Parts: sequence; C-alpha cells; structure tokens
Amino acid sequence: MAEFDPAALPELLPVFYRRLFPHGVYGRWLGYGGVVKNYFQLREFSFTLRDDVYLRFQCFSSPQELERELQKVNPYKIDIGAVYSHRPSQHSTIRLGTFQPREKELVFDIDMTDYDDVRTCCSSAEICSKCWTLMTIAVCVLDRALVEDLGVRHRLWVYSGRRGVHCWVCDDTVRKWSPTLRAAAVEYLTLVKGGAETVKKVNLSEPIHPFIRRSVNVVEQYFEAYALEGQDILGSPERWNKVLALVPEEHREVLQAEFPKKRDSVQRWELLKGRMERTRVSGSGAGKSTPCYADWEVMLQFCFPRLDINVSKGVGHLLKSPFSVHPKTGRISVPMDLQRLDQFDPFAVPTISSLCQELDAASGDREQDSGETEPKRHVRDYKRTSLAPYVRVFEQFVEEMEHVRRGELLRRSDLQGDF
Ligand SMILES: [Zn+2]
Repeated sequence: MAEFDPAALPELLPVFYRRLFPHGVYGRWLGYGGVVKNYFQLREFSFTLRDDVYLRFQCFSSPQELERELQKVNPYKIDIGAVYSHRPSQHSTIRLGTFQPREKELVFDIDMTDYDDVRTCCSSAEICSKCWTLMTIAVCVLDRALVEDLGVRHRLWVYSGRRGVHCWVCDDTVRKWSPTLRAAAVEYLTLVKGGAETVKKVNLSEPIHPFIRRSVNVVEQYFEAYALEGQDILGSPERWNKVLALVPEEHREVLQAEFPKKRDSVQRWELLKGRMERTRVSGSGAGKSTPCYADWEVMLQFCFPRLDINVSKGVGHLLKSPFSVHPKTGRISVPMDLQRLDQFDPFAVPTISSLCQELDAASGDREQDSGETEPKRHVRDYKRTSLAPYVRVFEQFVEEMEHVRRGELLRRSDLQGDF
C-alpha cells in the first residue's frame, strides 16, 4: 500500500464524514437507549483540527447535530470524554467545582511502545506482524479477566489506528464507577511492575492467584511462536542473559553453562522450563528446593499486557473515538472481532485514502451499469467499501447492548405488573 500523505486530509475528510462514517449506529451507541435523560447531550467530545488546533468540551443536542457538525468541521481526530454534570460547552460559566465528570466507559489503552524493553523486532512507534502478537495476547488476557473475573458484559475492542488497542467497557453499572474503583480494577489487572530501572518486573510466590494461572494459560498458547521463534529471546548469549537475569542465581549458572549446547530458543526454553517445573513437583525432595516460577515470570514479563493506569482511572480522561482517523497513518480506528482476533491484521485496516479510492471505483462501476449522472446521497456508502465488516462488528456490539436493555425493561415491567 502506498504511504499515506497527511496533506491529503483536507480533501478526504469531507468525503469520510459525509459518506463513510457510521453516524447512525455511532449515535445509538452513545445514546445508550435514551434511558437516562440528556445522557448524550452531557457527553464531551473533542476535535483535533488542522495544525493541532484542539477543541475541547464540544457537546451536541442529538446524534444528528453531531453528524452535521462533523460534516461541517471535518476534524482530523475525534476524542470521547465523560458525561458531565452540566453541558460541557458551559463548563466555564458554571460555578467553580460544580462542573464534574459523572460517568464514562471504563477504558483501557495498550500501547506497543510500553513493550520496548521486551521487543527485538521494532522500537517506539514501529510495529510489525511479529510484535502485533503482543496486542493479541493483551486482548485475550484482559477480555477473559473482564468477563470471568470482573463480571462485565459489553466490551468494545478497537484498534487505535497505529500501534495499540483500546477497550471500552460499556455496562451501565461500570460507567458509574468512581476513579477509585477504576484504579482497583487496573491494579487487579496489573502484573508487570516497575520502570526502566527495574530488571525483574514480575515476582510470583505461592499461593498463585487464579488470575495469574489463567493469564499464564493464555500466554502459553502464543509463547513458543511469538517469543521463542518470532522474537528468538534465547537466540544468542546477549539475549539469553536478559532472560537469565530474571532467574534465581541457584539456577542461572547451570542454565548459562547448558544453553550454548542447545540448538535454538525452543530447546533452551525446554531446559529452563523443565528445571522450574521440577522445583514445583509437590512432595519431591521433602522441601529440598523452594518452588520457583521463573518460567512464568519470564512469560509474563515478556508478554503480559501493560496498561496505562491514568487513562483508565480518570473519569474525565479523553480517548480517541472508534472510527476516528489516525492523522499520521490515515488508518481508521476500527472495532476488532474477538471471534477472529488471531486473524486481525493492523496493516490490512483501511486508510481514509484507500476507502475514498474504493468509493470512486464503486461509483464508477455503478455509473457504467445504470447510466446515472446525478450523484445521489449515499447514506450507506461504507457498505461498498472494506470498512463494512468493521462497521458490522460495531453494529453487533450495539445490538447486543440494545437486546440486553430491552430484556431488562421487559423484566421490570413484568415485575410492576405482578404487584
Ligand atoms: Zn515488531
């Protein structure tokens, strides 16, 4: 694919917001069924315009007004903020301290740059298909924990458009969570601790929490192909010393002596793992060795999701909206289909320019077929482009929420009928 040129955005964005952005279902999402009065109206949006002009505290009386405004302003980027106590546009006229963020989705932001100390293929903003596996693992680990451990239901996973993923947890109860509750959830979901100066960032001891055991189960499914073959983390003395620095001294020397005799990372890992597993066989040696989880610690340090706590904790924190354009790559931040997560390819995600080309090609075909000359208003033009499957994922997510909400309303009206 041709390199994206941000200079083309002023020309492409009007087409995007007029013909491609899924305004209808987007409005249904953020309206949350209209159950709470003014919920949509109290929501903060912020727009990034040309030359990094940043407009915060935008708000709209209806999804239709938002649609018109998007088509007028053509923002380079859309961020979504909290639902406030008052209309966000009035934030400066309201008595100090009374303008407060009330509710927001619980959000997670996972960024590949936070894994630079454990990636060998790329650094900083770069990603490739090899390290993208880290994002796949992050989604699997967190999504399992969100559903099974924290009991949430409505999760929207979105590719950020460049080098990471976002998660929006949209359950009615979760949107009301305080910063303290949000911080507690992030704390629960965090295993990798310490900054650049910390060598060993994961420390496990018995009893092992079920969350750790289940997370290791997820990582194990990817570890050989990703870390041993793809990243080749035991491929050379320089690399394996980084791993052995995480292993207790009593095991380190033996492994250091044995590693050169092995053929590759996979064999060396077998050796390390076998040694650790023997320390954990219950009853053996009658307390001769202390159980050691260095193999798990290595797996988690290299693969476990790394979260930005501040993004998740702050109710007023802004996060890039689904279906916003990434102004540098031109890629659309698209929802991810968890059923086909392993096939998700960030490099196959359409860019604003590729979509506009697809539209041109499609309308060219149609004019030839039907002899149309007058351009019609194409409300669902995205359906004729490669954006369609991603909008479908989004629709399914919103439909599921609507389905649950209807069930809940019916249940309540039944209860009222009984009394
Ligand atoms: Zn890479």
